[in-house]
Amino acid sequence: MFKTTNTLLKIRGEKMSNHRKRLKASDVFRESKYVFGKKVSFEEVFPEIEDIVVDVEELCWGTNKQNCKRTYTKRNFPGEYIDCSNPLCYNGGFSIGKILRDMVKNRQTELETLELCQGYEGSPKGNKYYKKCLNQFKIKVSIKYKKTAK
Ligand SMILES: [Zn+2]
Repeated sequence: MFKTTNTLLKIRGEKMSNHRKRLKASDVFRESKYVFGKKVSFEEVFPEIEDIVVDVEELCWGTNKQNCKRTYTKRNFPGEYIDCSNPLCYNGGFSIGKILRDMVKNRQTELETLELCQGYEGSPKGNKYYKKCLNQFKIKVSIKYKKTAK
């Protein structure tokens, strides 16, 4: 009888450490941005998210009008960064991954915020700096979390 209980506890313990391992994977990801969206699926990075909608509205650039508003879900998620569509901008965009990690940490379901582009306008090869990119991203995030058995 006692033995059975012990075995059960053991199995539970293993399950729990498995769960910890998963959380660790997202810790690793925190340090190696390129992993997100390339080698690892959204599911693996954010196993606790059942569904997500990210609405992004940025300033419009010339003929790129259809890019002013974009909606991302799990299926078409761009990865760690959402890119800036300013054609003159280098290294433009912002880290949606960071925002999601903060939200998930707090189990936050809704967020509306304004992000500034981290890039700059420069010469075609990017070695001349003209000015900081003025693009802004108005974003709205809705997350539905999976029910976790605790
Ligand atoms: Zn930009």
